[in-house]
Amino acid sequence: MIHTAAQHNAVRTDLAFQRCINPVCGATYDSSELHTSCPKCSNLLDVAYDWDRIAVPKHLNEFEAMWSQRTNPVRFSGVWRFHELLPFAPQDRVVTVGEGQTLLQQTDAVGEYVGMDNGKLHLQYEGMNPSGSFKDNGMCAAVTHASILGAQRAACASTGNTSASLALYCSATRLMKAIIFIGSGKISYGKLSQALDYGALTVQIAGDFDDAMLRVREVAKELGIYLVNSVNPFRLEGQKTIMFRVLEALRWEVPDWIVVPGGNLGNSSAFGKAFMELKELGLIDRVPRIAVINASGADTLYELHERRGVRWNGGHVNMDPIVQYNDQMDREGIKADTIASAIEINRPVNLKKCLRALEFTDGVVRQVSDQEILDAKARVGAGGFGCEPASAASVAGAKMLRREGVISASDRVVCILTGHELKDPTATVAYHTTDQEVFHKTLGSRGVTKASFANKAIAVPNELDNIIKAIQLYA
Ligand SMILES: *Cc1c(COP(=O)(O)O)cnc(C)c1O
Ligand SMILES: [Zn+2]
Repeated sequence: MIHTAAQHNAVRTDLAFQRCINPVCGATYDSSELHTSCPKCSNLLDVAYDWDRIAVPKHLNEFEAMWSQRTNPVRFSGVWRFHELLPFAPQDRVVTVGEGQTLLQQTDAVGEYVGMDNGKLHLQYEGMNPSGSFKDNGMCAAVTHASILGAQRAACASTGNTSASLALYCSATRLMKAIIFIGSGKISYGKLSQALDYGALTVQIAGDFDDAMLRVREVAKELGIYLVNSVNPFRLEGQKTIMFRVLEALRWEVPDWIVVPGGNLGNSSAFGKAFMELKELGLIDRVPRIAVINASGADTLYELHERRGVRWNGGHVNMDPIVQYNDQMDREGIKADTIASAIEINRPVNLKKCLRALEFTDGVVRQVSDQEILDAKARVGAGGFGCEPASAASVAGAKMLRREGVISASDRVVCILTGHELKDPTATVAYHTTDQEVFHKTLGSRGVTKASFANKAIAVPNELDNIIKAIQLYA
């Protein structure tokens, strides 16, 4: 089923184009153009396809044939082996560093914690990507588009993982120079070390992520630099494949729930688009419900969707509550604040696309505290799948929805573990520490008061007898 048409060295303007998500506008743009919002009405853009002219498999199981083509780097990629479902670039132009070799793990250890029946909880472990987070799924798509456009420089603002991913792709492929914008003091060492090590030009702004995001958009426009933040619609095309791999692992059966942490809401938006397209193409007959989980210290989506009733409403989003809430945050000086730094974002750029995904999938939004996040993270770790704090919001959210009865024990649930444990060891060590001072200094200000699932080191004198006694006492 490899599509061989249109092998010219350009973006496939014939099959793929960009379209404004605002149905009243609906403007379309060539896919060889670079926009981060609609030039006419400044809404977000989608990548859209002329599906009738694309050789899409009739059944999803036809993608299993790609497994035998693993010597072809394009089909080895967990993103590009689904090329027919994101065919904006000719196959011979796609960029890959082997992303998307990720696994859906069924775990009763974590399932019990969440309150699920045995066999019902799955973790999609995206920390196994080359740069250690799901961001690689999107970055290979964005860098593909950038390279086709001939970009020499690519930039992003980042809480850490987007910059690590961009830096990796730029250095590994030597296609372009990475420029990353970060806020002050927020980024974890695991992530910062990657950007520095991979050689990205790193610009530290005196401000937070939302400030860095505003600036990078200005600078990218001014200097004509390719922007890879999730306002980039091509990036989100790559992130759709996380859902394709989930379905693949479930032998193409649709689960009941996808639970995902929400930061800039790129992932939830991409997941929604994936299911919209699979449904439209007749490749699935039902869609899972999406639950987006905010940290309570960065809960804009929760506030707007659950408290102020903001809905996609067929594309006619009522902007008044959104504007009011943004003004209120400015007035009261509310800044995002959570241990889950990857979702420490108060102005999610993909808000409207996420609202669309929530409407299409009958989705829900919840917020979980840093205490709940770190407890869930410890359970995930004890189950053998270490993740960073933001990722564990999905598990904490699933537990909450289970407790509320929104998710039932027999539902099939997939929580997305978005980033690897080693991205942010500080939070993990602080949680498990025996040193009360370290615990309170790192976690106390976040309202974390106890570490119920801490696995504390045992302190023993440097004497053989004592060491042996201590071990016999505990194991
Ligand atoms: C980026 C990121 C998120 C947030 O994803 P969005 O698409 O911005 O909502 C969550 N977890 C991790 C580990 C991330 O890197
Ligand atoms: Zn528009």
